[in-house]
Amino acid sequence: MNLRRKLGLDILSEKYAYGEDPQYGHTSEQKIPDHWVPTTCGYCSVGCGMFVGVKDGRAVTVRGNPNHPVNLGKLCPKGLSEHYTLEAPYRAKQPLLRKKGKLVPVSWDEALDTMVERFQATQERYGPDALGVISTGQLVTEEFYALGKLVQLGFGTKNYDGNTTLCMASAVSGYKRSFGSDGPPGAYEDLQKADVIFLIGANIADNHPILCQHLDANPRKTLIVADPRVTKTAMMADLFLPLKPRSDIALLNGLIHLLIRTGQIDCEYIAKHTSGFAELARFVEKYTPAYVAQITGLSEDLIIKTADLYGNAQAAFIGWTMGVNHSTQGVETVNALNNLALIAGNIGRAGASPFSITGQCNAMGTREAGFASSLPGYRKFENAEDREQLARLWKIDADRIPIARGLAYPDIIEAAVGKKIRALWIIATNPIVSFPNLDVLKQGLETLDFLVVQDGFHPTPTTELAHLVLPAAIWGEKDGTYTNSERRVSKVNRAVDPPGDAKSDFDIFLALAEKLGCREELFPGWTRPEHAFDEWKRVSKGRLCDYSGLTYELIEQHNGIQWPFPEGTTEVGTTRLYADGRFPTEDGKAKLFCIEWTPFPEQPNQQFPFVLNTGRTVEHWHTRTKTGQVPILERMSPNAWLEMNTRDAQTLRLKPHDRVDVISRRGRVRNVELRVTEIVAPGQVFMPFHFAESNANQVTQSAFDPISREPNYKQCAVSVQLSVSPRERRSKDRLRKKALPVEVN
Ligand code: SF4
Repeated sequence: MNLRRKLGLDILSEKYAYGEDPQYGHTSEQKIPDHWVPTTCGYCSVGCGMFVGVKDGRAVTVRGNPNHPVNLGKLCPKGLSEHYTLEAPYRAKQPLLRKKGKLVPVSWDEALDTMVERFQATQERYGPDALGVISTGQLVTEEFYALGKLVQLGFGTKNYDGNTTLCMASAVSGYKRSFGSDGPPGAYEDLQKADVIFLIGANIADNHPILCQHLDANPRKTLIVADPRVTKTAMMADLFLPLKPRSDIALLNGLIHLLIRTGQIDCEYIAKHTSGFAELARFVEKYTPAYVAQITGLSEDLIIKTADLYGNAQAAFIGWTMGVNHSTQGVETVNALNNLALIAGNIGRAGASPFSITGQCNAMGTREAGFASSLPGYRKFENAEDREQLARLWKIDADRIPIARGLAYPDIIEAAVGKKIRALWIIATNPIVSFPNLDVLKQGLETLDFLVVQDGFHPTPTTELAHLVLPAAIWGEKDGTYTNSERRVSKVNRAVDPPGDAKSDFDIFLALAEKLGCREELFPGWTRPEHAFDEWKRVSKGRLCDYSGLTYELIEQHNGIQWPFPEGTTEVGTTRLYADGRFPTEDGKAKLFCIEWTPFPEQPNQQFPFVLNTGRTVEHWHTRTKTGQVPILERMSPNAWLEMNTRDAQTLRLKPHDRVDVISRRGRVRNVELRVTEIVAPGQVFMPFHFAESNANQVTQSAFDPISREPNYKQCAVSVQLSVSPRERRSKDRLRKKALPVEVN
């Protein structure tokens, strides 16, 4: 601080000066940009439209787009401060290669030559599938499409998956089993048109905050929220169902039982458009209110009231997120939700939909165009006609397209531990914080012969383990499209240049293809994302996710357009899937499944008496690679915490703000601040998973859904005890050693 400032003579008048922005009026002069760049938020799948204000080549502010149908000008705290991520101190700016144990700067040429050479050498020695790739939900669709081709046809491995398996895989598999295809059937508009909205395992107030304005715009609705925790969303409910952890399948079967018993079902819809109803009706007979009350901990009256509200609705909307998906029975829970919607005919109509609210800004894009859980355009690996169709479009031999999907994310890690995967490429994700049961993951990554991490940030806990770090552009620095949860394709635009030598993921993929010698074959004439978009339009033509009528100009003009949008479409409006009752299954009907409730795998016991639930907070995004570097968000939520019920805290003689350790069979999270609260029920504790320093995944378990391979992050058995400082611990150890009896030989 200079002397003038110290004496109070320098009042930083330039810094705090105000001026008039032609569009937004009186505001800080520093935030009056030279121009505004329209784009879409790069955090969550709500898909809010915004403008980035650019001054002298720097992003100085952001504003919500008042004409965007998703957010009508509003942004949540993450969106409102998103421009800060671009100039965060830990941006990756140059390729880094590990030499003599240290990461040192190298040229792009050396980085990519080394990567190709090491990957090819590994594949020659151990087979093509010894290479694994784990990507993300953060790239633009054009990049996902290019990456899928590059990995499967260029590098020739089928072991490619995304971190979307950690959040959305159960919804994807559940949709495929019930309806024959992935794809959320409804639209956000349904939140405004439904007379009953049933949110289950979905804390949208923290995780998808702007969706709450669609709820607010519907004064007629009855909002039912089912969650073991009294979340901010639960506090908005007309009817709150505080069910026991993982008893959701029993509740859903109980509701179906009651709807059938009281005749509150749509018999005509069931007969015309579903199969398996007779079996389902017999199966749910045992799920009486008394039986369901015993499993869920809800009163029979509450269960009956919920069934009555849902059954009497003209149009009912069911929304869910990770509370459903993060389970060893995630896919089956989605099927049970779809059962409930189908028997009441609540699908394909305004206000009526079983709707999975997706996680990341473009998790939908990788599901549509990527190559991980299905072939581009929701084509199936195992369907010969689908493979041949793609091969014709790409002018390649159909034998080059895998006939089955490769390993899913958790299985790639397991294969790394078992030395079957020997080289791994991680793109825009930070598994050291986000993957369950941290020790197993570390073992997998440390065993690899070669680990490449491509990210916009360095160091992160994952880049620190890499042999090669590739610096990538992030949101705000590249072009393309995102698809949000309601299938709305929105434009993403470059506002500023990436820092240092960082390149867009798209350019990195093209450069790698060049090194592999397959650029012209896979990406003929491509130099920018629009070229990928043009090919993707042709590849998606005639599919459920048909983009063939879309152009960048049209998307921008309408602030995002929902697919399907076949060539020749002239009207832009809300679209819903399955409005005609036809489903892409063999018989054209949706399938009803008999889903049995079973208790979750790791039950609490005397040693580990609490059920740990993990989740998120509105200020942070995933592993805080981005939001941890935004000062305002860090100040609002700087540390992890553990929520515990008052009764349990009294039993353990713990007080608010005590520092505690959370311990499971697998590990210990140290020194977490305790919050004593009625938000969690006795016997349960809650902790956010964002914080590397207090990593909840040190205690979570390696338990996965057998169909989707999504982890069961939500319930594991833990104990909680008062933390001791390292000094106290050392002195206790000394005392203990002194007290040990002397051994006598
Ligand atoms: S709700 Fe999601 S998309 Fe909208 S501003 Fe917040 S983080 Fe961005």
